[in-house]
Amino acid sequence: MMTLEHVRRRQKIQYNKRRGKYIQLVNDYLGLCPYCQCDIRSNYTIDHIVPMTSSGGDGIDNLVPCCSGCNSQKNSLSLVLFLGTRTTNNVERYWKKVGNWYSV
Ligand SMILES: [Zn+2]
Repeated sequence: MMTLEHVRRRQKIQYNKRRGKYIQLVNDYLGLCPYCQCDIRSNYTIDHIVPMTSSGGDGIDNLVPCCSGCNSQKNSLSLVLFLGTRTTNNVERYWKKVGNWYSV
């Protein structure tokens, strides 16, 4: 039988796994928001390149860490429009990811 203790323990493991994945992402982006280059090491949000609502998945390839300001601005614009408001281009890995989605 599944006790509350079991459920809590499992939730904690899942949370830690997800958190580990996110911290890895932040490190991959050198601790900088790929959109505005601000420092996101202590405070970041996770952005879905292709929104979950548009069939984007929850896989690592569809996730980008960014600051909350950029995340909320991006949510209200399409990615192409949003990127037009940004001049950053020095996070190669980000462009590689976005290129994969938008080159076809
Ligand atoms: Zn930002």
